[in-house]
Amino acid sequence: MFDNNCQVCASRVLIFPSQITSLANTDHGIVLTFTCWCGTEQTLVTGKAARADRDHVVAA
Ligand SMILES: [Zn+2]
Repeated sequence: MFDNNCQVCASRVLIFPSQITSLANTDHGIVLTFTCWCGTEQTLVTGKAARADRDHVVAA
């Protein structure tokens, strides 16, 4: 379970494992695809590689 700031809902909502439709390990991190409560499909990039990318962006 994690929280998501949905642009469509315009609110912060909880996403449960049952809402996750796919999970993929990529070079940029773990890409989670899930269906929000409003019905839109969204993605979240997480994991060690994603944090490294964000740290790199912040440091640049
Ligand atoms: Zn939503």
